[in-house]
Amino acid sequence: MALQFHSTNHDSRKVEFSEALLKGLAPDKGLFTPDKYPRMSIEEIRDMVSLDYPEVGFTVLSRLIGDQLPPRTLRTITRDAYNFPVPLDFVVEDRHVLRLDKGPTASFKDFAARTMARLMQYFLQEKGGELLILTATSGDTGGAVASAFHGVDRIKVTVLFPENEVSDRQRKQMTTLGGNVTAIAIDGKFDDCQALVKQAFADPDLAGLSLSSANSINVGRLLPQSVYYFWAFLRVNENRIQASNEHEPLVISVPSGNFGNLMGGLIAKQLGLPVRKFIAAVNANDEFPVFLNTGRYQKVEPSRKALSNAMNVGHPSNLARIVDLYGGIMDHEGKVSKQPDMEMMRSDLYSVSIDDETTRKVIHRVNQEHGYILEPHGAVGWAGIDSFVQETGNSGPFVSFETADPAKFPILIREIVGINPDMPRILREMQDKPEQFERIPREYASFKQFLLKKFS
Ligand SMILES: *Cc1c(COP(=O)(O)O)cnc(C)c1O
Repeated sequence: MALQFHSTNHDSRKVEFSEALLKGLAPDKGLFTPDKYPRMSIEEIRDMVSLDYPEVGFTVLSRLIGDQLPPRTLRTITRDAYNFPVPLDFVVEDRHVLRLDKGPTASFKDFAARTMARLMQYFLQEKGGELLILTATSGDTGGAVASAFHGVDRIKVTVLFPENEVSDRQRKQMTTLGGNVTAIAIDGKFDDCQALVKQAFADPDLAGLSLSSANSINVGRLLPQSVYYFWAFLRVNENRIQASNEHEPLVISVPSGNFGNLMGGLIAKQLGLPVRKFIAAVNANDEFPVFLNTGRYQKVEPSRKALSNAMNVGHPSNLARIVDLYGGIMDHEGKVSKQPDMEMMRSDLYSVSIDDETTRKVIHRVNQEHGYILEPHGAVGWAGIDSFVQETGNSGPFVSFETADPAKFPILIREIVGINPDMPRILREMQDKPEQFERIPREYASFKQFLLKKFS
C-alpha cells in the first residue's frame, strides 16, 4: 500500500513520495503532507528494541516509502545517512535528554538533510537528471545542507551567505567542503541573499540549470524526523521491553521553531508510537501556544529575537500540516479557512512559551544540580517539561531534545555556567581546513553571470 501525499490547500492531485520530494511545493502552493498513514502494531514497534539506529530508520521509513525504492537501497541510505551516534542521556529521575546534535554539523537538521540528499540522488538516478540546489542562509542551515549534499552524485549545491553576518564557524561549515559545494559571500544581508535566490528561481534564462531548493517545507525533510521518536521510546523502555515486553508511553518535549521536528513526532504517533503528550516548547515567539489555548491564530510579526535563535519564527511553516492533520485548513499566510479539531489537538499537544530569563536560569540550574550542560534550544525543551509538570502534575517518563551542541554557544555557556563546552572533534577539525569561496556583489546581474558561467 503506497503512501500518498496531498496538498494542505486541497487544490492539487495526490502524488507519490518521489514526486513530492523532487517538486518540494505543491502546484497550488500548499505543502505536501501524508494522506493516510500506515500503522505499525505495538509488537512490531517493541521488536525494534534490539536494532541499531540505521536499522530502526530503515524499518520505519520502509513503512512510509518502502514502495518507492528497493529495500537494499533504502538500507544503504539509512546506513550512510545515520553514521553518527544518537545517545539518550539519563539526567535525573524520570528525565532524559535525547542528543540530536552528534551529526556532522552538530545540529538535529543533519538527520533530515542527509536522508533527503540521498533519496534525491536515488530518484534522480532512476528518472535521469541533475539538480543545482540554491540556498540562502543566515547561519546554520547553509552548513547543514552543504554538508548533507557534499559528495552526492548528480546534485550540486550553491550556498549564499551574508559575508559580515555569519560567524567564523558558520562560514567554515560552508567554505571548507569544496567538491560539489560552492560557497558565495554576498556583500549584503541575509535578505539580499534570499532575494538573489528567489530571483534566480524565477529567471527563465536559468531554466536549463534545473534549480531546486532544499528548504524545510519539503516533506522529504519530515519523514526522517519521525525515526528518532521511535528511538527515544525504545531506549527509555529498553529494560521493560526486554524483561517483560511492557512499555510506558513517553511525554516528549520538542524545542520548536518551524515545527518540522514536532511534525516528525506527530507522524510517528500516527504510525502507532505510544506518546502520552508532545510538548511544543517555543521561545518568545508564542503564536502557537496562543493558538492552542484560544483557537485564534495570529502570526508574530516581525519575529522576536531570543537566545534560541534557530527558533525565532513568527509564523511556522509546518503549522499548515499540523492544522491539516487535525482536519483544518490553513494557507501560507496563516489564514485559517477551516478550524481544526482543537480538543483533539489539545489532547495530543501541550505548548508553552519560554522567555530568555527562564532559558538562562534552566541552563544554570541543570548544570548546578545535575552537572549537565544544555544549550539554549535544549533548555527551552527542558523548561517546557517543568511547565507541563507544574500545570498538570503529570509524571513521565520525560524526554526532551538537545537540538544543537552546546559548543556552538561558547560565550553564552561560559557566561552562565563558567565552563568552556568541549568542542566536538568534527567542529574542531573544520577549524584548520583551507577555505574557498567566491565574493559577489549583491546585484542580481553578477550572480546570474556567475551561475551561467560556472554551471551551464
Ligand atoms: C531548526 C532548529 C530548531 C527548530 O526546529 P523546527 O523543526 O524548525 O521546529 C531547534 N533547534 C535548533 C538547534 C535548530 O537548528
